[in-house]
Amino acid sequence: MLKIQEYRPQPFIDFTKEENVQAYRAALKKVRAELVGKHYPLVIDGERVDTAEKLTSLNPCDTSEVVGTTAKATTQDAERALQGAWRAFDSWKKWDMDARARILLKASAILKARRLEACALMSIEVGKNYAEADVEVAEAIDFLEYYARSAMKYAGFGAAETTWFEGEENGLMFMPVGVGVSISPWNFPCAIFLGMLAAPIVAGNCVIAKPAEDSGLIAGMMVDILLEAGLPAGVLQFLPGVGKEVGEYLTTHAQTRFITFTGSRAVGLHINEVAAKTQPGQKWIKKVILELGGKDGLIVDETADLDVAVTAAVQGAFGFNGQKCSAMSRLIVVDSVYDAVVGGFVERTKALKVGTGEENANITAVVNQMSFDKIKSYLELAPSEGKVLLGGQATGEANGKQGYYVQPTIVGDVKRGARLAQEEIFGPVVSVIRAQDWQDALDIANSTEYGLTGGVCSRDRARLEQARHEFEAGNLYFNRKITGAIVGVQPFGGYNMSGTDSKAGGPDYLANFMQLKTVTERW
Ligand code: NAD
Repeated sequence: MLKIQEYRPQPFIDFTKEENVQAYRAALKKVRAELVGKHYPLVIDGERVDTAEKLTSLNPCDTSEVVGTTAKATTQDAERALQGAWRAFDSWKKWDMDARARILLKASAILKARRLEACALMSIEVGKNYAEADVEVAEAIDFLEYYARSAMKYAGFGAAETTWFEGEENGLMFMPVGVGVSISPWNFPCAIFLGMLAAPIVAGNCVIAKPAEDSGLIAGMMVDILLEAGLPAGVLQFLPGVGKEVGEYLTTHAQTRFITFTGSRAVGLHINEVAAKTQPGQKWIKKVILELGGKDGLIVDETADLDVAVTAAVQGAFGFNGQKCSAMSRLIVVDSVYDAVVGGFVERTKALKVGTGEENANITAVVNQMSFDKIKSYLELAPSEGKVLLGGQATGEANGKQGYYVQPTIVGDVKRGARLAQEEIFGPVVSVIRAQDWQDALDIANSTEYGLTGGVCSRDRARLEQARHEFEAGNLYFNRKITGAIVGVQPFGGYNMSGTDSKAGGPDYLANFMQLKTVTERW
């Protein structure tokens, strides 16, 4: 057993203090000198493997800048990675749980020392401002610390309770399942990438990690940290590549034991289908863990503290430009306070500054051309589905820099069934929906196929209790923003089409990557 202090989430850095801002700027300089322009090869069986083709990572806030490149894996590379991981599994599964957990703790120590560097790299690679980057690196550290500790409860024979029975010894043990693939998105390229591989690995599995195409450098940095922490060859195979090529190859492969995927609903549902089809020679039913998109709503009723509600709306909608699965993309306001809430929301949003992540702007560029084009198409639709109260333009430019810039946009009086109220836009675009009363507001909140996060701003206890049971969301927040779940504090995962509700950062997350064996000995 590990002898370490209890888990405590990392405190965030206070960027109202000038010395912290200066330290961040120094980290940006260091990263520009040491990491920008870097190339990350694949890592297979502990060796760096390069490929003929490369993936290029652009700075979304200044698209004239190439941040760096990664190798682009082929299906042959994926096959090699899979076979190598199964070889590594033979010994990794026999390691003591505490020895595996120690590697996560060592990685956490290295990441803590390089915290601002990781933040700075994200500012440049995906356009996070200082606070957004910092809370993400804090979350990544938390995942390592939390999963290292929670692994302990799964160790050994008798880890789960059984009832005593005369004449026999009965017990349950948790076993790792084998080799899986972890496919992650670009919007939390450090924390989600790391959390989704650290959990199965500490449980004794081997993982092929396929990062998103837009964020290969930060993923490469995390892999370096895990290898430096002592992860044996083959336990973590790093496989940057194109989702439709190597991702598809691995999710359909007979020898893939589990798939853990975080990303869009469309890709997640596709994976669910192809993974369900049994391949020749396949010996198991694949475990599939999917965490997908959202169309997250915040209800404000007539009893709410309107200032609290407006703050919750601005923070939840526009943090990282609305590019969070948890982002508030629907503001549902009861008619009698609609004008006051929407007026305050528009005023407060006007104060947000658009610029680069490196300048620490409130709103930065969205991640790539595809995202920019998709958001633009919703902005074009907006005047026919509601009243554009603020923004409405995809400018492609800010402070003289060409990038994927979109104005923070608020569309009022959107109907509950409109496309703007139903489809995930994944950008700084909010649909405001008018509700007749509280019950109508709750019905509107539950009127999408998604169920990731949600919130209620109200001072009515009975309504909060009703929402506690009836609001269909995996993560529900009262009288605060609906983003920013903290590992161990608010385990995270969605209902309905938002996912399989695996609750990352929760007490039972590791069990997703294990199977239980009951062993009985008759005396
Ligand atoms: P995406 O679905 O486009 O891509 C996610 C990953 O899937 C990438 O690594 C991509 O290369 C890979 N991929 C693409 N096609 C594939 C295929 N056919 N087979 C296997 N892999 C494939 O998503 P994205 O744009 O990177 O991320 C944004 C989405 O992720 C949003 O919908 C957001 O809501 C969601 N998200 C959800 C959570 C959550 O916890 N629920 C967290 C973060 C992001």
